[in-house]
Amino acid sequence: MKLTWKQYDLHLKHTFRISRSASDVAKVIIVQFEHNGIIGYGEASPTKRYGESVETIPQFLQKIDFSRFDSPLQLEDILNYADAIEQGNTSAKCAVDLALHDWMGKKLNIPLYQLWGLNPAKSAKSSFTIAIDSKEVVEQKVREAEEFPILKVKVGADNDEEMINTIRKITDKVLYVDANEGWKDKHLALERIKWLKDQNVEFVEQPMPSAQLDDIKWLRDKSDLPLIADESVLRLQEIPKLAGAFDGINIKLMKCTGLREAMRMINTARALNMKIMMGCMIETAVGISAGAHLGPLLDYADLDGNVLISDDPFDGVRNIKGELKLNNNPGLGVSLKD
Ligand code: MG
Repeated sequence: MKLTWKQYDLHLKHTFRISRSASDVAKVIIVQFEHNGIIGYGEASPTKRYGESVETIPQFLQKIDFSRFDSPLQLEDILNYADAIEQGNTSAKCAVDLALHDWMGKKLNIPLYQLWGLNPAKSAKSSFTIAIDSKEVVEQKVREAEEFPILKVKVGADNDEEMINTIRKITDKVLYVDANEGWKDKHLALERIKWLKDQNVEFVEQPMPSAQLDDIKWLRDKSDLPLIADESVLRLQEIPKLAGAFDGINIKLMKCTGLREAMRMINTARALNMKIMMGCMIETAVGISAGAHLGPLLDYADLDGNVLISDDPFDGVRNIKGELKLNNNPGLGVSLKD
């Protein structure tokens, strides 16, 4: 069993600006797990907020000793072991989880959705993200996104109303709104949500900072729109304490260590009567395809990370007008382009 990795710099079609940061390039690590002539691919897209970078990922990966295990099919044992090596490192752990799942699917010669008994035709449609920008750029982006039936709009800077008004002048399609913790005051947040309700918005993601959970509880009692946790929820253990503060959770493979834990989060959130969204970072078709295999279990999908880049090195799931089209190839169904 051998794990190797390589860094890729992904270029954004437009500068990607949210309430706390902006970027033109996303650096990711693609891993290859090889055993008995079968290669499994995985991906780590690190986020500074969660303490990771393209420097920390290799440091973590080289600590994993696969010689302790007889077969990659002992996925449960291998992932438990890797998780226990060190706290955090969730996207690095995710890369290993995806590569082992891809390897297993290839070994069994079936796509992952089949392994889980899922019908990919029943997948939630993906939204397309409009990041924070000037009126002119937002107009251009909304027109470019004409084929996508659902838009996810980033707010939480100082131009919320302008962002929404600009979009609503062009289209009446469904909008998801993501404040990325941008509203620091609960009264301001409530005012914004009341206004957004009148703009035909479906839900609001992470209205306030994760540290202000009591304020978010207060807000949820008064809010006319469902609230979805993103920055407030990384992994499985955090879900129960969020049940009174949010109506749903946004699961991201890069935050939660991969498909194995994502599946557990889905089941846990369902038991607590919470909605399930799956989001992503800026990722190649490797990470996005992995999320898409869980598509039939989601209420909302926001799996557009590879649509936002101009130079995806991989083929995999295709996003056709927001529909996530998986192929019949085994495992994740991804392949490196020539
Ligand atoms: Mg979000």
